Amino acid sequence: MANLIDGKRISKEIKDELKEKVAKYKEEGTTISLAVIQVGNDPASSVYVGNKKKACEYIGIRSLSYELEENTSQEELLKLIAQLNEDASVNGILVQLPLPRQIDEKKVINAIDPKKDVDGFHPSSVGALVIGEKGYVSCTPAGIIQLLKRSNISIEGKECVVIGRSNIVGKPMSLLLLRENGTVTMAHSKTKNLKEVCKRADILIVAIGKPRFITSDYVKEGATVIDVGIHRNEENKLCGDVDFDDVSKIAGAITPVPGGVGPMTIAMLMNNCVESYLINQK
Ligand code: NAD
Repeated sequence: MANLIDGKRISKEIKDELKEKVAKYKEEGTTISLAVIQVGNDPASSVYVGNKKKACEYIGIRSLSYELEENTSQEELLKLIAQLNEDASVNGILVQLPLPRQIDEKKVINAIDPKKDVDGFHPSSVGALVIGEKGYVSCTPAGIIQLLKRSNISIEGKECVVIGRSNIVGKPMSLLLLRENGTVTMAHSKTKNLKEVCKRADILIVAIGKPRFITSDYVKEGATVIDVGIHRNEENKLCGDVDFDDVSKIAGAITPVPGGVGPMTIAMLMNNCVESYLINQK
């Protein structure tokens, strides 16, 4: 049976480290503030926003909440972002996605000051990642690197296969593995012989968005399998892109869903917020 990679425990460890840092900043008279903007009241977004605020509270980050009506115009949202960009007391700005149809997501992402881009979605944050410069990194892939490192799974020289090439998971994930000296293959919906490609992997990262798609015949014996997917199954229980019961018989280490990658995303958002204080100071 595979070793379980415990995202809940590791995310708590990171949040506790951040809590200590934030307490020190407070002693020096500084409070870190995160502005969280939600447009409309999509129930899933409300849960995510609620969890982010709770994490801020736990660590000691001040969260400023902006709950805008579903029919808010793009201009109104851009105006609020411009105000928050100018406001020196705000360190990080987060706009919960997806946005209602009348608002162009790209314009909104581009409007956030890169210094306050704690989600790491701004083109200049992505560019910094590509050329190996410092900058905010998208929280889910950054969390996966922490999961591997803190579970003593080395990346250097390993065959890493990432399935999925989205801007928020697959692409930054591949770049981060490369930065850690992995040998990286990016697989996607047009990849031929996916099973054979996946079977080469020492580390297999799955971000496809299809429930229990990856079974044991995609996995090399002893490989590390990281499951990014989140779905509800027929019994309304959470499951991932990986068939956990099947794959855990052959993998060396595996993340569960829930309790694997999910908690790490918020922990890394908090990490970016703490870093935002230092970045804004410079
Ligand atoms: P996406 O839909 O934007 O991208 C899916 C990718 O999978 C695409 O690049 C596509 O090429 C690839 N793909 C689709 N079908 C495939 C197939 N049959 N074979 C090979 N590749 C295929 O998804 P995303 O935003 O990257 O999210 C992926 C999953 O991760 C979703 O289930 C999402 O809910 C979840 N997610 C979880 C977290 C978290 O914090 N745990 C964060 C973001 C996303």
